[in-house]
Amino acid sequence: MKILVLNCGSSSLKFQLFSMNKKREKMLAGGFIDRIGGNQDSSITYYINHKKKLDEAQPIKDYDGAIKIALKTLCSSKYGIIKNIHEIDSIGHRVVHGGEEFTKSMLISEKVFQKIKDNAHLAPLHNPPNIKGIESSLFYIPFARQIAVFDTAFHQTMEPDAYTYALPYEWYEEKRIRRYGFHGTSHRYVAEEAAKIIGKPIEELKMVTCHLGNGASMTAIKRGISMDTSMGFTPLEGLVMGTRCGNIDPSIPLQIMADEGLSPNQMDLLLNNQSGLFGLTDGDSDMRTIEEKAHSGSERHKLALNIFTRQVKKYIGAYAAVMGGLDAIVFTAGIGEKSAFIREKICEELDFLGIQIDEKQNEKNNTVISKGMTFVLIVPTNEELAIAREVMKVLINESNNP
Ligand code: ADP
Repeated sequence: MKILVLNCGSSSLKFQLFSMNKKREKMLAGGFIDRIGGNQDSSITYYINHKKKLDEAQPIKDYDGAIKIALKTLCSSKYGIIKNIHEIDSIGHRVVHGGEEFTKSMLISEKVFQKIKDNAHLAPLHNPPNIKGIESSLFYIPFARQIAVFDTAFHQTMEPDAYTYALPYEWYEEKRIRRYGFHGTSHRYVAEEAAKIIGKPIEELKMVTCHLGNGASMTAIKRGISMDTSMGFTPLEGLVMGTRCGNIDPSIPLQIMADEGLSPNQMDLLLNNQSGLFGLTDGDSDMRTIEEKAHSGSERHKLALNIFTRQVKKYIGAYAAVMGGLDAIVFTAGIGEKSAFIREKICEELDFLGIQIDEKQNEKNNTVISKGMTFVLIVPTNEELAIAREVMKVLINESNNP
């Protein structure tokens, strides 16, 4: 079965075509189109079997145009991997916010699509591009089954005491203001892979998964179930991120808004795009640069690093307490997969939790980097493959329960 995965970000499209059956998972081709609808041309990269075949620039004014180009490339006589779009059986769409309605991936019926649209206000930056992607794909590939895979669904297992904020309760009842959590597809995927590496059923494990990229979040996963997660009502809560502030005293933005006469939108932009590592260092959000400058003696970059690693450490401790123990820490995403220095710093002085890093394995970015009782693992995330797996799961369920 050929499954196309579409991930429409706030100005980009990632697409990957998989050949999947119960025994085999193969990524056939994929690509990335950025700066959709911007003033500059978009760049289009396309690869087959992980080898780059195309890297060019052209103006792309919207998601519809981006999806058209993606389909054309997949079917082109020069680089195509399929003869025509009728070879595509199903499409997996990443949808950031599923609200409380969606606790698992769903076949997109008219009713499901309407609910996704109704939830758009919960993720105004993320859900509208996801919706446009679904609309274009229903138009161009109406014969394929379309499945929505939600970033929030994995976290819908959290108990009320993990997801309710201590705010007037009507805000939850009337406006559905609560912790939702994000990156769910990634947390679930790396936890399942980690269980395979450890060689135990996931139902027997207590894990903390650390998705440390530009956006960063952590999840407490007990018996394969999300018990708590660091992102909240929006992806702004939790860890310090590339440009997002993470946890702060909520009275700070109120005071700044009053002092500077800022609107909610202006404040939102400052907290999402100008804060975090970027704000601390006067403009560096890339962890590689921050590490380099910290090692060259910049006090501000050292501070940024220390704040970042301290927060990750705090969540590890908190989540071990919530779960009543810890069998494994799993690092993933750009920083988690590639920075030996940061992993080591996070794990320093955590011996009391059975955490000891094996320096050599850590330096080599190997899979198992621990030598203590508690596993410390590096598991590269693969959100597209995780989405393709979810598509398979939904289709198998559908055929068993038509
Ligand atoms: P996202 O998908 O959230 O945009 P990624 O998962 O690609 O982000 O992670 C991007 C982050 O990973 C950036 O901060 C980047 O600096 C960091 N990163 C990538 N490689 C390294 C490395 N070798 N050392 C430290 N940080 C790295």
